[in-house]
Amino acid sequence: MSGKYPDSWYAASAPLLAAFPPLEGDLNTDVCVIGGGYTGLSTALHLRKKGYDVVVLEAERVGWGASGRNGGHVGTGQRADQASIEKWVGMETAKGLWQLSLDAVALVCALIEEHRIDCELGSGNLHLAAKRHQGAELQAELEYLNAVYGYDGLSYLGAPDVRELTSAQGFHGALLDKGCRHLHPLKYALGLARAAADAGVRIHEGTRAQPVRDGASGRVTTANGTVTAQHVVLGCNAYLGNLVPRLAGNIMPINNFVIATEPLPSRLLPQVNRDNLSMSDTLFVINYWKLSEEGRLLFGGGENYSSRFPRDIKAFVRPHMLKIYPELEDVDIEFGWGGAVGITLNRMPDFGRIGGCLWYAQGFSGHGVPTATMAGHLLAEAIDGDKTGFDLMASVPTHRFPGGTLLRWPGLVAGMLFYSLRDKLGR
Ligand SMILES: Cc1cc2nc3c(=O)[nH]c(=O)nc-3n(C[C@H](O)[C@H](O)[C@H](O)COP(=O)(O)OP(=O)(O)OC[C@H]3O[C@@H](n4cnc5c(N)ncnc54)[C@H](O)[C@@H]3O)c2cc1C
Repeated sequence: MSGKYPDSWYAASAPLLAAFPPLEGDLNTDVCVIGGGYTGLSTALHLRKKGYDVVVLEAERVGWGASGRNGGHVGTGQRADQASIEKWVGMETAKGLWQLSLDAVALVCALIEEHRIDCELGSGNLHLAAKRHQGAELQAELEYLNAVYGYDGLSYLGAPDVRELTSAQGFHGALLDKGCRHLHPLKYALGLARAAADAGVRIHEGTRAQPVRDGASGRVTTANGTVTAQHVVLGCNAYLGNLVPRLAGNIMPINNFVIATEPLPSRLLPQVNRDNLSMSDTLFVINYWKLSEEGRLLFGGGENYSSRFPRDIKAFVRPHMLKIYPELEDVDIEFGWGGAVGITLNRMPDFGRIGGCLWYAQGFSGHGVPTATMAGHLLAEAIDGDKTGFDLMASVPTHRFPGGTLLRWPGLVAGMLFYSLRDKLGR
């Protein structure tokens, strides 16, 4: 069967599940979910809890996509900032979306607890100002979120206080967000898959759905069988390919890369990350990092906009890490891997429905650990008849990338390169 996990530290350290069998033959079910990442697995699990019969089709392995490769940061807030969201949808809806973002973090924690998912759950994120003026911007954000949204999870740390927590170089201050969590992403995805399977969801790995045309019929075709369902849910995000061509132009897959060092010498651990926080910076091409339970530094940095990964991912990401932690010069990098992030133009997810029976949620823009988990919950609620949360997410307009499906690359690449160049100026 197809579907070997990428050679990541996550795949090397997670208790992989026995393979679920590929689909052979024809099935009838209430809901067919395409894609076995957080979106698909969370949808399936929540629907099953409501008594629906559910089939999940996964082209490779569960958690093979971004859900098994990401930085493991579980952040509060939506990916777009609240002030922009207010302009797009008004204050009342913006407040609803803010609350949904907090509910999403809580949902991740609740699922982990309920299903006893052992996934290295930790707390707190430090968001570091890479440019001097961004320190003031972070302070203003804290005051705004506190005054308008009543959020009290944030505190601002000046550079000397930051140095108590981390030896990270080049930062002018930081926001500490106690409401954030972090975890081992593949262990979390596999835990969701196990919970779904235990609850009676039928999972078929190595089973690629063929293009779905219009959402008028709930029939999904694969190489060796079909699924006929009342509802079909798409959870393919950046790996959508040509499955539903009319949706492909709403998102752009961007490659992002992560490395894992060897376990750090114990003397370096308190210096690099005293309180075991997740950390990220304010650059457009964001650097993000955390420690694994066994003391490896998991560092994400650098991206590319082509269909290929760099030949040597370790060498590609390492300079980003050394710029921040020069003391890791002699530390070995043992793993390097990449994955596709599905971004939207406004960095808000794209929720919707096509025809009577095709539902989708995609474009989590690098914020999918909480948001895709929540998407699954909202999709399940909507299919069960309560569209309140789904409609709230869907109320944010989605814009197609200029050039649609085929021609979106050149404009996007130019835009991305412009912003990544700005990262390098004036620090
Ligand atoms: C390197 C990297 C770092 C990231 N860091 C973070 C982070 O720290 N915090 C955060 O919140 N988010 C982060 N993200 C984003 C987050 O991982 C995603 O938003 C989230 O995992 C999306 O989940 P999903 O289920 O929608 O998609 P995926 O997990 O990508 O799953 C989609 C699945 O669909 C399957 N599929 C595709 N086509 C078909 C088909 N035709 N038939 C059957 N199956 C199909 C694929 O095989 C895949 O398994 C990161 C992403 C990457 C790549």
